[in-house]
Amino acid sequence: MSDYISREEIRDCYVSIKDVINSHRNDNNAILNDTLDKIDFYVFTYLNKCPSADVRENVKGEWIEKYIEREGYCYFCSNCNLEVLESDLSNFCPNCGADMRGKKE
Ligand SMILES: [Zn+2]
Repeated sequence: MSDYISREEIRDCYVSIKDVINSHRNDNNAILNDTLDKIDFYVFTYLNKCPSADVRENVKGEWIEKYIEREGYCYFCSNCNLEVLESDLSNFCPNCGADMRGKKE
């Protein structure tokens, strides 16, 4: 099973690591500096070459119960405010696709 991760998060993580790498640069050691430059180049090159997957974010939601005069109990999606009757409650919001199983984080 594939493990989908965020390219943006990896890039941000590497930028933090890069500060440590750059602290090891030494004006008197051209080979070390050249190696650090190559590491930098290859990390970004391979990061940008990694194929992207067609996945969507798993948005969590909850059905919020609300009593409305003369209508009775209705339920609202906590993510998009879609109103549904109790008989139409489902595991996923039919409007925004939010996952209604379990608590919203
Ligand atoms: Zn919704």
